[in-house]
Amino acid sequence: MNIKITKATKSRIDSVDMNNIPFGKVFSDHMFIADYIDGKWTNLEIKPIQNLSLHPSNLALHYGQSVFEGMKASVTKEGVPCLFRPEMHAKRINKSAARMCMPAFPEDLFVEAVTKLVGIEKNWIPPYDGSALYIRPFMFATDEFLGVRPSEKYKFIIMTLPVGPYYTKPVSLKAETEFVRAAIGGVGEAKAAGNYAASLYPAKLAQEQGFDQIMWLDAKEFKYIQEVGTMNIFFVIDGVIVTPQTDGAILKGITRDSFITIFKDAGYKVEERLIGIDEVFAAHADGKLQEVFGAGTAAVVSKVERIHHDGKEIKLDVSDYKIANLAYDTLTGLRNGTVEDKFGWVIPV
Ligand code: PMP
Repeated sequence: MNIKITKATKSRIDSVDMNNIPFGKVFSDHMFIADYIDGKWTNLEIKPIQNLSLHPSNLALHYGQSVFEGMKASVTKEGVPCLFRPEMHAKRINKSAARMCMPAFPEDLFVEAVTKLVGIEKNWIPPYDGSALYIRPFMFATDEFLGVRPSEKYKFIIMTLPVGPYYTKPVSLKAETEFVRAAIGGVGEAKAAGNYAASLYPAKLAQEQGFDQIMWLDAKEFKYIQEVGTMNIFFVIDGVIVTPQTDGAILKGITRDSFITIFKDAGYKVEERLIGIDEVFAAHADGKLQEVFGAGTAAVVSKVERIHHDGKEIKLDVSDYKIANLAYDTLTGLRNGTVEDKFGWVIPV
């Protein structure tokens, strides 16, 4: 499809210190924007990033029809800008959109728009290890209407922002026994804006109690582990890698999927199944709990050093986490071109 391109007259890049980028605040020069009107995506344009003008009755503001993605572009050691599994993000935003009764954005157009935008913004990709150009595609309702019904009009926007190396200090987790993130049949599998709003209050309480993040448990029995903060979670128990099965309440992480493939390819046994918090504590008591780590686009890997559950606590020595390091090194190596891309995940821009 035809994407109109209007370039900024002057780039702001010289005003940014790429060695010291505050996360989430510095945006590149351009954005992609499109409108959904009369059942069709139209007005496709890449233009200088700018404010939107919205009527106060904007449906997304009141009833939350809003979904997003998070992905990263990086440069290889040879200087080639690359995307990582962009088609997976295209598919996932459409699954999220379908659950929120929103239209699909064509997958090929998603990849084309991200590719064109990142191509234009390639100088904004910080060339340092662990740094990246974070890409934020999102879609939201734009009907001017107060009433609970699906919007007829939507906007789809992609912004990009340079991000420095995400300092991954080991994290402490509170297994949450009062609040839930998602129930089976709910919207946990959708990357819907409201899921993140709902997590803020329990996360604030956990932080006040001295924990970095929440380990979410299932909504029915508070027994089975779902995710950690905004990451999927992996355990290594007696040499076997275990991660919660996706059941509709867990976000299907693209890092999770990539790690499962990498681990199986390296010859490890990987189990996607129900894993209870009691099983984790029992494995620790038996000396069999070797590693616990979160997996997601932002941090790639977050090693867990402490888990609190219902007055009990376990501590882990992250200094000899081998599987977490294998995951981190393989994924970052694929992105910077130092690990051979045998899975075909890295797409040059
Ligand atoms: N769970 C949640 C709730 C998330 O927001 C994210 C980040 N997208 C993840 C897991 C990890 O997903 P991904 O590996 O695709 O970034």
